[in-house]
Amino acid sequence: MKKFDVAIAGAGLIGGSIALELARAGLSVGLFDSREPGQESSWAGAGILSPAPESAAMIPLVPLAKASMAIYPEFIRKVEEISGQSAGYRPKGTLQALFSRDAREELSTVIAMHHGLGLKAEPLNPEDARELEPSLSEELEAAVLRPDEASVDNRAMTQAVLEAAKRSGVQFFSDNAAHAIRREGGRCSGLQLKNENIEAKWTVIAAGCFSANIEGVAAYAPVRPAKGQMIALRADNVEIERVLWSEKIYLVPRNDGRILAGATVEYTGFEKSLTAGGLEKVLTGAIELSPGLAAARVEETWAGLRPDSPDHIPILGPADLDGLIIATGHFRGGILLTPITAKLVREWVTQQRVSVDWDRFSPMRFQSTSTRKAPA
Ligand SMILES: Cc1cc2nc3c(=O)[nH]c(=O)nc-3n(C[C@H](O)[C@H](O)[C@H](O)COP(=O)(O)OP(=O)(O)OC[C@H]3O[C@@H](n4cnc5c(N)ncnc54)[C@H](O)[C@@H]3O)c2cc1C
Repeated sequence: MKKFDVAIAGAGLIGGSIALELARAGLSVGLFDSREPGQESSWAGAGILSPAPESAAMIPLVPLAKASMAIYPEFIRKVEEISGQSAGYRPKGTLQALFSRDAREELSTVIAMHHGLGLKAEPLNPEDARELEPSLSEELEAAVLRPDEASVDNRAMTQAVLEAAKRSGVQFFSDNAAHAIRREGGRCSGLQLKNENIEAKWTVIAAGCFSANIEGVAAYAPVRPAKGQMIALRADNVEIERVLWSEKIYLVPRNDGRILAGATVEYTGFEKSLTAGGLEKVLTGAIELSPGLAAARVEETWAGLRPDSPDHIPILGPADLDGLIIATGHFRGGILLTPITAKLVREWVTQQRVSVDWDRFSPMRFQSTSTRKAPA
């Protein structure tokens, strides 16, 4: 039987980064993926790094998101140095465009909300906004500049993280799906694969939206897939410096000149089809925001599955089986939350305490009181 200090199910950005941190802390790590590593949500995402909440329900996430932003530059530096690969980090800020007739009122609400949460945000009039981003529509009524926000090329970053993990001693097992967690009394003693058992002191579930399909995990991580359709554009007449948002879509410039437009949020199960309605929604929003994109070439279209939890908040921390840690449910923010997730799991495994309060994200919050283990 293969034996590791830590066995991780899922080699996306989350599992890969946890593996990297733990291997660098001196632990033996086995990283298991049902297919080729890094080809699911972490490949499909847009790579925006924005701790601003999209809705009131996401406000509890802000402290964790800010903590992740604070360590992002150092995390990227480390990953790039170890892997020898670029992660396409662009710390250039983001700009939210407001089009409604009551945009000025909306502007003060948005700015006050950001400041209340300790996030930098500056109001801009349409002229100043278009001076920063000349491709913005003339219909713009106001804008919010968030200078501390950023983006990464998540495909490049995922490959860099996986390479850094490999170079740090993590053992990879592609095409090796975890079928179940292994239980021995009140402990989780590793993973059960198709034809093999893996023994580990610590077991981490980081299989994205597929996590609940691993037997024994659904009660802790009742995640489901939220499909997002994306389009990559290339335009000769449009240059975008920072991430641009409207209330409908976002545009993300890449270092190679591509402009990503996204994304839909759809609950249609584990399927990744592209639909006429989905692509139309993204393209209409993109052209409304930056009209020059009407002449852009469509270079690529794809869809990916975000790991969503019942309350749309990540599921992060120890379960009531000793040795079992859940790290999934990052929904629309998994790329942003990668560094802090990896750091907290490393702290828990090596010191059994964490530097940022993560109780709010506990995998025990989905268990009814009757099924909860009595306190020891
Ligand atoms: C269209 C779209 C846009 C997005 N935009 C952003 C954004 O701008 N900013 C941001 O922060 N986040 C964004 N996200 C969300 C982000 O991509 C995810 O939250 C993040 O990538 C989740 O990473 P993960 O490693 O948990 O999951 P994944 O990348 O999905 O990795 C899970 C891995 O587990 C493997 N696996 C599955 N089943 C098993 C099994 N039984 N055993 C072992 N392995 C298994 C899979 O093959 C996969 O490699 C976006 C997502 C999408 C789809």
